[in-house]
Amino acid sequence: MRYDVCDRCGVKIPEGGLKYIVRVNIVADDDNIIPEDITDEELDAMISGIKEFDPDMLESDVHQELAFVLCKRCKEQWTRDPFNTMKDKLDIDEGWSGELH
Ligand SMILES: [Zn+2]
Repeated sequence: MRYDVCDRCGVKIPEGGLKYIVRVNIVADDDNIIPEDITDEELDAMISGIKEFDPDMLESDVHQELAFVLCKRCKEQWTRDPFNTMKDKLDIDEGWSGELH
């Protein structure tokens, strides 16, 4: 039987079972990347510095898309606390058999 696996807790989600796709779109805030009062020399130095970076690294620094599969329980917990600031209060193993039926 085909199944997906929750990226958060590892539970097997059978084909056709309830699952959620979390898409994260990370975009650099482009405000103030180039200061308004920059001199031509400073701008040239910035451009030279950028040329030394790996283009793939530069791209991921500006824009990155991630996608995760979550089971229903993890989706509910993740939406309540996406940055895991309450990790001591949300125990993903508590009362969890590890498999959806
Ligand atoms: Zn899960």
